[in-house]
Parts: sequence; structure tokens; C-alpha cells
Amino acid sequence: MKPASPPQTIAIIGAGFSGTLVAAHLLSRAKAPLTIHLIERERSRFARGVAYSTTEDCHLLNVPAGNMSAYPDDREHFLRWAQARAGELLDCACVSEVTAAAYLPRRAYGDYLTQVLDEAERGAAPGVGLERRIDEVVSLKVEGEAVDLRLASGAQLRADRVVLALGNFRPGDPSGGDAAFYRSARYHGDPWAPDVLERLLPTESCLLVGSGLTMVDWAITLNQAGYRGTIHVVSRRGLWPHSHKPGAPAAFALDPSGAKGAVRAGLHRLRDYIRKSGADWRPAIDALRPATPILWKSLGLSEQRRFLRHLRTLWDCHRHRLAPGIAARLAAMLDSGQLVRHVGRIRGFRDLGGQVEVVIRPRGSDRNHEFRVDAVVNCSGSESDYRRLDSPLVKALLGQRLIRPDPLALGLDVADSGALVDAEGVASEFLFTLGPPQKGHWWETTAVPEIRGQAARLAAELLGV
Ligand SMILES: Cc1cc2nc3c(=O)[nH]c(=O)nc-3n(C[C@H](O)[C@H](O)[C@H](O)COP(=O)(O)OP(=O)(O)OC[C@H]3O[C@@H](n4cnc5c(N)ncnc54)[C@H](O)[C@@H]3O)c2cc1C
Repeated sequence: MKPASPPQTIAIIGAGFSGTLVAAHLLSRAKAPLTIHLIERERSRFARGVAYSTTEDCHLLNVPAGNMSAYPDDREHFLRWAQARAGELLDCACVSEVTAAAYLPRRAYGDYLTQVLDEAERGAAPGVGLERRIDEVVSLKVEGEAVDLRLASGAQLRADRVVLALGNFRPGDPSGGDAAFYRSARYHGDPWAPDVLERLLPTESCLLVGSGLTMVDWAITLNQAGYRGTIHVVSRRGLWPHSHKPGAPAAFALDPSGAKGAVRAGLHRLRDYIRKSGADWRPAIDALRPATPILWKSLGLSEQRRFLRHLRTLWDCHRHRLAPGIAARLAAMLDSGQLVRHVGRIRGFRDLGGQVEVVIRPRGSDRNHEFRVDAVVNCSGSESDYRRLDSPLVKALLGQRLIRPDPLALGLDVADSGALVDAEGVASEFLFTLGPPQKGHWWETTAVPEIRGQAARLAAELLGV
């Protein structure tokens, strides 16, 4: 049913970058009375989310400061904020400059987001207000033209529209262990849980499962904290994120239209462009970014599946790159032997009491390789299959058939507007999302440069302006 009147109450579930930015845009743009409930289950993540609630100075943004503005129409907003605090930022061990090309601490970006929200709240029109809540939304029910939300504390809220800004969930457990192993103190299933570092530091060796950006965070964190032990890393294909290249040109003339429709043709075309241009591959990958949603949609389901099967890991390690300083540090850790790279499949974890025996089948080998570690950290990347999540809210919404996974189980089924699509295939007039849950729909939707535009558009859609 289409709502008859503009919303007077909007609830936003999740106060990471996505939820915070929708709230900030609503506060800035609403002219009629409006109450915005911004609800976050973890206090430390309010206006920061998973990525920017880290307290580690050496967890750096993987996007240069010049492209991290919260506002799509004011590209230097974050850079100006950072330059006004250059003295403080330069005190961080991992920061050597505060320029558009610099990779600044994610912790500082969390401070920036907090300020963006505070300023939007202060500048809101009379009658437009923000209610901040630390609580978990455990279920919701669409009742006529309103939505009733139930919170873990027992509180209830009523809203005219709801935004599910649920973001990144903890990774699913890797195969190889049994239930007892996954419950054991030596296994850290949630790499973003607050006590992991404290529990890893006394160990003499650990295994990081997965070789993406979460692995990089952990390797750097341990190194920075003076960890003396050996850090093993295992991944199936042994592909690690590439480094950004200082001084690589920012622009690359690429017409992506000919790459539509088929993965193989698209890949050949991209390689061809790069070869003929004689330029570095990085700007070519970056130039694809604005066109990625169109290319992704043009593939259709079976080619999208092919892409995921054959190219996903390759794409991720070229697309989601490392700040050069971080890449150099990892290389030094590999050289020194502190970081040990294994390429293969995990065949088993055996809990030996004091240690864990890890059994892997190295790629291309017909024999297992075994080694022992004191701890295992799951760095295998955010779980995107909503059917596997243990979130009470997600379970309730799936049970009520108000949401459904997208066909690739990369997130949720959505309309272009961000409206959630229910189990019958109908786009909701009341429930919306943005950011990571839209991965199956847009593919390129998990980072700030994309989400900031989505947040501005969704706020306008919600207000009907
Ligand atoms: C470690 C890491 C580093 C990253 N670094 C960068 C970077 O440098 N640059 C970049 O552009 N992108 C980066 N990203 C991508 C990142 O996904 C986006 O930048 C952005 O932070 C996503 O924000 P979000 O709000 O959608 O998700 P999240 O940050 O995951 O926030 C979602 C929030 O919802 C809350 N929540 C979930 N369910 C409920 C519920 N039922 N009730 C209440 N609250 C709930 C969660 O607690 C969480 O705080 C990084 C991602 C990660 C994981």
C-alpha cells in the first residue's frame, strides 16, 4: 500500500556510515516536522559502524582522503576537515601527510562522521529532530501505514518508514572445524569483536583465515602491538590485495559500453585497453567504477554467477587495494618470516587442548600439510547470505516474508530506489536499505564513494523531495 502522507517519523536501524549519512541528509533536507530514530546496537559503533570504530591508528582508509567526503556534492569536505586537524593526524605513526592522496586513519574518519551528524543535527529546521538510541531492533511489523519496531530492551517504536542500514555482518565460520572448535577460546569467529587483540597478544602463533582486507588489518595490528609470534595466513588462491600506486594517474579514458553482457568479452576488452594505453592497470580498474552497476546488470544472472565463480577473488584484490605504506609493511613482515603465507584449502582444525592443529591441502598438491598454532582468527569476509545470519531481526523479517535474499545471496533483493523486495517480489513502500545489502543489485555498493550518493538519494526519496 502506498503511504498517503509524508513521513513524520523515520527509523534507521544501524548507525554505521550508511545509517548515519541517511540521518544527516534527512536532518539537513527536512522542512516539515520529522523525528528520526537512529538505532545502533553497539555503543562504540554509533556514527562509526564496523569500519570506523577501530581504535587502531594504523588501520588506514583504503581510499585516499580526497575521495572520502561524506557529501557527493562537496568532494573536499573530508579533506578540509582532516587538514584542519593536520597536526593531530601527523602525530599518528602511520600518517606522513594530510593531502588528497593520503590514506588516513579510519579512527579519524569515525570522528569525522560523528561531527557530520552533530552538525546536521544542530542545523536542522525547527521541528526536525534526531533521537539516538543504543539498542537492537529485534523485529518489526508493518501495520497499515506504519511500522512497529520492537527493541531488545523491550521498548517499542512506531515509524512511518524504516531504513535497514545493517551493513557488514561477522564472517561465516570456515569449513574444517566442528561445533566444539568454533566455541573454543582458541577460535575467534568475529574478527571485529573488541577483545580479540588482548587474547591474541600472549600467544606465540596464530592463523588468519582469509587473505583480504580483514587479514591485513590483523597482520598490521599485531605487528604494531609488538607481537613476536608467527602469523600464518591461509587462502585458497593465495591472492592478496594489491597496493595503490603512488603517483598513478587518477583518470583513464575508458568506454565501458562495449564490455556489456559477457564476462569473458568484458575482461578481454579491459585487458586490451590497458595494454594499448601502456598505462598502469589501476586507473583502468578505477575508471570502471562509475559504470560497474550498468555492466553488472547487463551481465544477467548466469554471467554474474560465472563472474563470481571465476573472477571474484581476482576482482576483489585488484579493486580493493591497500595504502602503499601498509603494503610495504606487509612485504617486510613476509620477508622477515613473521608472516607465513599458505595457499590451499583448510581440511581440518584439531583442538589439541593447548594448541590447534591446522590441516591444509596446498593448492596443486595431493598431500596435506599440517602445522600448529595457538589461535585462529576468522578473516574470511563479511557473511552476505542472509539465510545464514544469526541476527534476530533478519530471521524475523525472513520469517514474515518481508525481505528475501537476492538470487546470488550477496545481500537482499531491492528495487533501484533501495526499497526492499518481499518474498512475493513486491517492492515495499515502507522498508528501505542501502550500502552492503544491495551488493547483488549493484555489485559496487560497499564503499563510501558509492554509499554517500545512495544516502543522499534515499533521504530525498523518503522525504518525497
Ligand atoms: C574493516 C573495514 C574497513 C573498511 N574500510 C573502508 C575504507 O577505508 N573506505 C571505504 O570507502 N570503505 C571501507 N569499508 C567499506 C564499508 O563497508 C563502508 O565504508 C561503510 O562503512 C559501510 O557502512 P554501513 O553503515 O553500511 O555498515 P556497518 O559499518 O557494518 O554498520 C552497520 C551497523 O548496523 C548495526 N546493526 C546491525 N543490525 C542491527 C540491529 N538489528 N539493531 C541495531 N543496530 C544494528 C551494526 O552494529 C553496525 O554498527 C570498510 C569495511 C570494513 C568492514
